[in-house]
Amino acid sequence: MLLEVEGLCVNYGHIEAIRDITFGVEEGSITTLIGANGAGKTTTLKTISGLRKVRAGRVLFDGKDITNLPPYDRVKLGLSQSPEGRGCFPGMTVRENLDMGAYVRSDRRTPAYQADLDRVFELFPRLLERVNQAAGTMSGGEQQMLAIGRALMAKPRLVLLDEPSMGLAPKFIQQIFSIISEINAQGTTVLLVEQNAAQALKRADSAHILETGEIVRSGTGAELAGDDSVRAAYLGGD
Ligand code: ATP
Repeated sequence: MLLEVEGLCVNYGHIEAIRDITFGVEEGSITTLIGANGAGKTTTLKTISGLRKVRAGRVLFDGKDITNLPPYDRVKLGLSQSPEGRGCFPGMTVRENLDMGAYVRSDRRTPAYQADLDRVFELFPRLLERVNQAAGTMSGGEQQMLAIGRALMAKPRLVLLDEPSMGLAPKFIQQIFSIISEINAQGTTVLLVEQNAAQALKRADSAHILETGEIVRSGTGAELAGDDSVRAAYLGGD
């Protein structure tokens, strides 16, 4: 397992946001966490990337206990996150945002760095068209692409994607999921948090359903997508 989450408990004050969450992410896989609003998906991702402190439990990355490492050091190890709500730097250009994603890298003037930039522009040609434009002036879909591109510029082994389809027009939703599959096919392990359960399960090797801070079901994407109770609760029953 590239990532192991063991017995994770996280509180906001007295509120228990997640309770005893345990799951793993196999290297090379797409693993998804699905669940309703407030189920604890974002909190789980933030805790893995080091933005929230644990009350109990451990996070292991490539066998190493990273539970108390600051986020910066986790990025250096190969774990980067594309946040919910995009979180681009609005006053900075597309190129500057992408460079910010690579702040832990020391090879910015090398061909390897340029190759990674080119890879992001191949995945998201729109970003190349808008490379000198301020991020804050772009559409929601474009900013979503930029947030993912920025996370990729850290050259992660594992990328955490928080609701990448949120707020996108239907034609962009299909596109963003194809791009996620492509990122994975190129060798990056993906942990995907989504409310669009149908699309996420279709592409996931492994999936977990969160309800009120706990994992209530786990299986392959296909198993959960074919399960009647999952379909009724998360896939609109169709
Ligand atoms: P969403 O899709 O709406 O982001 P989620 O599944 O990601 O939902 P979380 O955002 O992780 O869920 O929230 C889990 C629980 O923690 C919810 O009960 C939520 O109200 C609570 N919570 C989240 N952030 C905070 C905060 N900053 N302060 C207090 N409570 C919070």
